[in-house]
Amino acid sequence: MRRRLFKLAAAISLALWLLTAGLWFRSLIIWDTVHIQLPERAIDIDHAAGRLRLSTIRHVPEYPIYRDRLSHMTRTVSYVENTFGPRRWWPLFIRHQFGFTVIVPHWMPAALTAGAPALAMYRWTRSRRRAAAGRCPSCGYDLRATPERCAECGAAAVKPPHSQPMQRTTTAGAGEVE
Ligand SMILES: [Zn+2]
Repeated sequence: MRRRLFKLAAAISLALWLLTAGLWFRSLIIWDTVHIQLPERAIDIDHAAGRLRLSTIRHVPEYPIYRDRLSHMTRTVSYVENTFGPRRWWPLFIRHQFGFTVIVPHWMPAALTAGAPALAMYRWTRSRRRAAAGRCPSCGYDLRATPERCAECGAAAVKPPHSQPMQRTTTAGAGEVE
């Protein structure tokens, strides 16, 4: 059960990692701005140059009030260093008198979501390597003396040696250990 939950978490993490990687790639070419106009404040989401910037601002005379409730604008990210702000790799949170600004670099969600898939990949290659070497996929114990079931951890051998014909298919899965 815990193994299954881990696999599910790893799959979700991998999907989020791929999403982050895709958005990261887009941010290197395209500068997206989403503007949300609320009754008393505006929210701007800027996505460019490997960063996501979210800023809110209260309505003040210096800041234009957009007619559209929701608008989206794209530009190419050439000269983004001058227009989007200096390149910085660390997250940022600033609170000021009209609102706040948050900057999240893409590497942060990428790093946070890479751990579980990397661990799952490592476990998978390790169990394959162990099985190929005639060892228990779960704990690495030598299975030559007890090919049916691991004498060390009790895990049933997942695959019988491929020279044997398929036998006892009716009992397959009955004593399966997750
Ligand atoms: Zn074992």
